[in-house]
Amino acid sequence: MDVVVCVKPVPLSEQEITVREDGMDIKREDLKYEINEWDNYALEEALLLKEKYGGKVTVVTVSSEQRNPEFMIRECYAKGVDEAIMVLDDVLDELDAFAVSRVLYHVVKDLKFDLIFTGVQAFDDNYASTGATLASLLGVPHASIITKIEVSPGEGVARVNRELEGGLEEEVEVKLPALFTIQTGINQPRYASLLKIRMAMKKEIKKIGLEDLGLNRETILGWRRTFIRRMYIPKVKKETLYIKGAPEQMASKLVELLRDKGVLRR
Ligand code: AMP
Repeated sequence: MDVVVCVKPVPLSEQEITVREDGMDIKREDLKYEINEWDNYALEEALLLKEKYGGKVTVVTVSSEQRNPEFMIRECYAKGVDEAIMVLDDVLDELDAFAVSRVLYHVVKDLKFDLIFTGVQAFDDNYASTGATLASLLGVPHASIITKIEVSPGEGVARVNRELEGGLEEEVEVKLPALFTIQTGINQPRYASLLKIRMAMKKEIKKIGLEDLGLNRETILGWRRTFIRRMYIPKVKKETLYIKGAPEQMASKLVELLRDKGVLRR
């Protein structure tokens, strides 16, 4: 069972995010990056399949140098990944999900795979569309928001559970090769010990530039279909006020507030 997992380095969630002065992106200079949460579950699922059926797990990332993707890749190796391919170019931070999917396509089309996993969505720009677009470019079926996977290599199918709205789930059978977008909680991702990360420092990462894929900056910038016009922190529209005190005090404060807001007449 050969599985390709698309992994994206995204800003660590506990950092304070501020918007650049030109309002076109966030300030990235001092940010630290880690593997996208959904991709971590996708990676674990691929490793579990490899443990059960053998085969190979390959991770692919498309990233700028600034995101320090190498650290994320070393962690993937420490967890048991067999091969890592990193497409590096600073222009990759300027792409939308449509253009990123097409770059990923140029890498994945030449790989041998039974399954491709992406996360359901990337924590930073939340397009939630890369997996479906990549599947369509490759001409393979896809199923999204996957919470359980059972593979039957003999039959050439996978039976998967999809999360639907309102707490519903759906079981579908998909012919292989296929692409699944993996939901968090599908498994319990393993930790990479420091020792294993250190040992992984010796592993080779296949670093490729756009030219190795027969591409250039102009071409991939031309693939974009979504353009950021403005990024900003929205004004707070709703406000929660906590009224404290004895019941009578709270009641009269509430009446006063409702009068101030024009909800009650004076
Ligand atoms: P998105 O469509 O941007 O919300 O991302 C959904 C999924 O696509 C992520 O969870 C990743 O698995 C994959 N993905 C998105 N961007 C990249 C990237 N630059 N490199 C590798 N995989 C990516």
